[in-house]
Amino acid sequence: MKKISRILAAVLAPVFLLCGCQISLSGSTASNIVSAPKSSKAAAASSQAAGQKASIWYFDVGQGDSELLQLPNGKNVLIDAGTSESAKGLVKLLKDLGVSKLDVVIATHPHADHIGGMQKVLENFEIGQYVMPRVADKDVPTTKLYTNLLTTMKQKNIKATQAKAGLSLMNDSSCKIELLAPKFAKYKELNNYSAVAMATIGEKKFLLTGDAEKESEQEMLKSGTDLHADVLKCGHHGSKTSSTVAFLKAVSPTAAVISCGRGNDYGFPTQQTLSHLTSIGAKIYRTDEQKTICAHTDGKTITFETGLASATGT
Ligand SMILES: [Zn+2]
Repeated sequence: MKKISRILAAVLAPVFLLCGCQISLSGSTASNIVSAPKSSKAAAASSQAAGQKASIWYFDVGQGDSELLQLPNGKNVLIDAGTSESAKGLVKLLKDLGVSKLDVVIATHPHADHIGGMQKVLENFEIGQYVMPRVADKDVPTTKLYTNLLTTMKQKNIKATQAKAGLSLMNDSSCKIELLAPKFAKYKELNNYSAVAMATIGEKKFLLTGDAEKESEQEMLKSGTDLHADVLKCGHHGSKTSSTVAFLKAVSPTAAVISCGRGNDYGFPTQQTLSHLTSIGAKIYRTDEQKTICAHTDGKTITFETGLASATGT
């Protein structure tokens, strides 16, 4: 196993393309979030809603994670690609939304419920910047899923930028995206390598935390970074390993989205997480109950749409 890890690490090393860091922070004003009535219309039609400047999609990929940010500058950012079971459905949803190029793709960490559909995504779309964390050699997956993904990256000449706190992925007058984690080079738990992204669109902020757990949350808190966001994509599918009260208080979201599968084996989201979210007054959205969820924003207000087409074919 160690030998395989070493080989993989050697394969992986050249795919990383290191780049500079830039930290930029901004405040935001109180949010105005309105929950739209449940809609069953196709995702594609929904994305074309007139007058919307940005849409953040929290796809229902079953027990996994995948989000698409359609930004005011016309760029598309994909964070994670769900499971291998939902891969085909995810590609279809992205195509239905008119996506042909993904300007930035973030693979938060190499667990199968986040990179399961990544190979298909790389095969089907033009890829701009590809971002992933560099994990300890012992944690580099040895699965076929992962080695196939690396092979596709090599074939398509996709180089990876290392995910780390302070990395600026977009910064123009309409929107900013920067990573707040991972802070350090080594963690015991693979989930804590998760790339955590803060997207600022006008006055509104969206925090997407992958599967970052308590350790990463504490590091972000200690760093003194402004963690406030209007919408939080909860860490680790609503597990009690994430969403600590101190972190939630710092983020202080008006709405929280939990991405998890219907009747999943892990019991996500946990009652503890739901209680923590309720205690800070966040409105809770769940992909297991509301399928694909979309937050539309013009930079001043946020409107949620739920019940949209899922990637799982259900
Ligand atoms: Zn996960």
